[in-house]
Order: sequence, then structure tokens, then C-alpha cells
Amino acid sequence: MATDIKHYQMFINGKHVDSDELDEIRDPATEEVYATIARGTAAHADAAVTAARAAFESGSWSRLSPAARSKVMTEIAERLGSEIEDLVELEIHGNGATVRQAMGFHVGYAAPHFSYFAELAASYQWERQVPTPAIPTLSTNVIRHEPLGVCATIVPWNFPLLLGIWKIGPALAAGNSVVIKPDEKTPLTLLRLCEIAHECGVPDGVINLVTGPGAEVGARLAEHPDVDKVAFTGSTPVGREIMRLASGTVKKVSLELGGKGAQLLLDDADLDVAIDGALFGCMLYSGQICESGTRLLVSDKMYDLVVDRLVDRASALKLGDTNDFNTDVGPVISARQRDRVLAFLDSARQSGAKVVLGGGAPLGERFTKGYWIEPTILAEVSNDMEVAREEIFGPVLCVLRYTDEADAIRQANDSQYGLSAGVWSTDYERALEVASQLRAGTVWINNWHQIDPALPFGGYKQSGLGRELGPHALDEYTETKHVHIDLTQKVERHIFGALLSEPRA
Ligand code: NAD
Repeated sequence: MATDIKHYQMFINGKHVDSDELDEIRDPATEEVYATIARGTAAHADAAVTAARAAFESGSWSRLSPAARSKVMTEIAERLGSEIEDLVELEIHGNGATVRQAMGFHVGYAAPHFSYFAELAASYQWERQVPTPAIPTLSTNVIRHEPLGVCATIVPWNFPLLLGIWKIGPALAAGNSVVIKPDEKTPLTLLRLCEIAHECGVPDGVINLVTGPGAEVGARLAEHPDVDKVAFTGSTPVGREIMRLASGTVKKVSLELGGKGAQLLLDDADLDVAIDGALFGCMLYSGQICESGTRLLVSDKMYDLVVDRLVDRASALKLGDTNDFNTDVGPVISARQRDRVLAFLDSARQSGAKVVLGGGAPLGERFTKGYWIEPTILAEVSNDMEVAREEIFGPVLCVLRYTDEADAIRQANDSQYGLSAGVWSTDYERALEVASQLRAGTVWINNWHQIDPALPFGGYKQSGLGRELGPHALDEYTETKHVHIDLTQKVERHIFGALLSEPRA
């Protein structure tokens, strides 16, 4: 291993913490070791939770005014914005995003989304008074939103910084302490966020990051008796396991899980918009996005024309150097993921799907290193095939046929998932009517991947539990307390007679 490879450590209680073991971070486009990171253990998770709990109890952050927290968070957002190029570099080498995608989405969204939570800290209604009538007794009532305590944040490798911010932002805004568990392959941008937060004045122990295997470190956080909430993004099977682990101490859980988004192309769609949009919806970041539109539903009437136009347009996608602004499609995250996608493509062929574009690993000198899959279009896919039911997480668009609108809606909803869906149509009334029948947390009409921090995001069915983003995001990171204040003053006006029927002596 080259000696100039930088080694990174965990961040616990305001300090960098190393470990006896390390993990290598390999650039998915080259397979070269880009950096190494300390590999944390359950003991590190325990140390981070202890620090987070002590910080919470000390009030150093939890009892700051919301305005003071908002001020520190605004500084953090500004720093994220000013460090965008360094963060983009870390993300390109960590998760294989292309520079255009990292600038536009992976890191480009980070500062504005963090800034949204900084503003929300100041504008959220932390407390409100609810007067009640004088019956049965004169009183007033206060409803308060208080921080939960220690929040564990477990995120996957595809959008580590952004998906982390969707949890860390509202958790910090509400006054909680946080323990972050990134994926083993992509800890660096979240580590930098911890350092920036500390430099901007977030006290020791309030934000911590522990690395290491999910089944050890993530599982310890999910079951830890001193963790009050676990916020998770990742696969549906691990989401189920986290719910099970969290149930031991009845901790709060929010889950953002898998998806199998259906794109409904109606016959009146503008095909210039729909063809480009369908490819954008599926192929962005090599299809490794939970809300990708991976099933395109097209009427029998339009089917051949749409498939031809998709192939024509997708053939122009440039695969290659992730640092090049002209590259459209980068690698997939790992050799394991590449092999998994290739196995799905075999299964598609065996079950009768037609590979009309791509279908394997690309050839050529450039692709002898790295984890590559050609942009692939599968035609004649039916909704009962494995490729239509399971998350592939690769640049693979499945094109399905429908007979009429009701059939399209039925197939779209025939999935264990319900994260995203979309409609391509020039008739907005019709598109809205279809949208109302789709069982998905987000429905895009004539667009895809539009995620606004002020609008809720999350899944129906086995795509998750709870919603991230939007003005109610903080509700998920607070306890609601009702304080009742009796104003009668005189004992004889109280309703204690329900128990004490004897008059006073
Ligand atoms: P994963 O579930 O394997 O891992 C996600 C995280 O959980 C990682 O940090 C991992 O280390 C940790 N983990 C693994 N096993 C664990 C365990 N037993 N206990 C606790 N933590 C554990 O997911 P992945 O393969 O890394 O990511 C891809 C998945 O994430 C896809 O299914 C995708 O759809 C989903 N995803 C969902 C959203 C969303 O918002 N709904 C967003 C992005 C990704």
C-alpha cells in the first residue's frame, strides 16, 4: 500500500479516536486504495453513547436556546458550502459518484439542506400555551417539544453526507446528541461534518462518529439502552433487524428503506421530456438510489416506439472517469454490487426479458479496473420477474407493458415497496388523478429526483416508517410534553372530591 495514503480516525467526545484495526476505502472507479479508516467496535459505540449521554445531560447543547443552536448550525451550513470541492472529492473517491452528480446532488444538496434545519431550529414552535375553559377547574396548559436525548444515525454508502444530514440536522436542531454510524466504505464526508460542527462550536460529545461493521457497531447502537432513537436509511432486511433490536428498549425508530419506483408513461406524454426523464429517473448515480424509477410502464400502443427512443438516447450515455465533467455514468460501489447486478441480468434473460441495450460489464482497457456495469435497458419485462420485484441498485431500466390505465396503476402498486412513483403526461388533471391512486410516499409528475428539504420524504409499505425533511421533521426528534397548570388556588374549587368525599374537619 502506498505510504501517502491518508489514515482517518473516528470522532468521539470531540476527539479523533483510532482503533487497532482499519478498513480500506477503495475508489470504485479504479479499485485503488484512496484512504484508510479506523475500524470501530461495539466498545467504541458504547464510548460514543456514553459521551453523547453526558453531553445531553450537561445541557451544553440541549439547553441552549433554539436561536443559539440555529446560529451555530447556520455557520456549519456555510462551512459545508465553502468546502464543497473538498467534500466532492471525498465523495467521488468514496462512493464513485461522478463529479457532476456529486456537485449537483451528493454534496450540492448538503449545505442547503443543513441550512433548512438551521432555520427550522429558529422557526419551529417549541412551546405553545393552550388555555382551557374554567370547567372543571380554571387552568392553563403548555405543550412543549423537548429533545429525545441520544439519537443514533445509521446511513448507507450511496448518499452518506446527505442522508446523514437528513437525520443529524433535525436531531441537532432539537437539542439532541448524535452518534453517527456511516457505511464502512463511505465515512469521510460525515467525519468532516463532525469536525466542522465541532470547529463551529458544537460541544464535545454532542456529535460523534463511530465506524465499523454494521452487524456489530450498527446493531449495538440499535439495541443500546441509552440510545433514545435510531434513524436508519438502508436496505429493508436491515431495517427489519433494526426494528427488532430497538424493540428491546422501545426506542423510537424511523426507517428509510428500499424502493422499486414505477414510472407511468401515459400515451399523451411529451416523449422528449419522458424519454430523457425516464433515463434520468433510473440511471442517475448508476441507478444506486432508493427512489430511482426502475420500472417504466408503457402502453402496448407506444411500447416499440418508446423502447427504440430509449435505446437511442441511452446509447449516448458516457461511462468512465468520475472526475471528468463529461462523464454521465460512473461505476457501481463495489465488486460485490457489480456481481449482484450481473446476476440479476442473468435472471432477467432466463425469465424471458430482452436485453435491448447493455447487459453486462463494459469492455475496453478503461474498464479493466473498477466496478462497471453498462447502462442497460431490459424490454418485455413482466411484473412477476425477479428484476421487476427486487431492488437491483444498478443502471438497469426495466420496461413493462400495460393494456390500459387501470392495468398500469395495478402493476405500479403491485410491489412490496412504496417509496417513489411518477407519471409522464401532458394532461395534468389526468396525471393528478393517477398520482392519487399510486401507493408511494413521493409521486413526481413530469420529473424525478426532485427532493426539497421543505417537503416530506419517505415510504409507504416496506419502504419505511416515518418521514424525513419538511416542517414536521423535528417532530420525529422530539418528545411532546403537556404541562397542566391549575389556576384555581382554592381547595374547595378543585375536583379532589372524586376521591376525598369527607368534608374537612
Ligand atoms: P444496508 O442496509 O446493508 O446498510 C446500511 C447501513 O446499515 C450501513 O451503515 C451498514 O453498515 C448498516 N448495517 C448493516 N447491517 C446492520 C445491522 N445488522 N444492524 C445495524 N446496522 C447495520 O444497505 P446498503 O446496501 O448499504 O444500502 C443500500 C440500501 O439502502 C438500498 O436498499 C436502498 O434502497 C436503501 N436506501 C434507502 C433510501 C431511502 O431514503 N429510502 C436512501 C438510500 C438508500
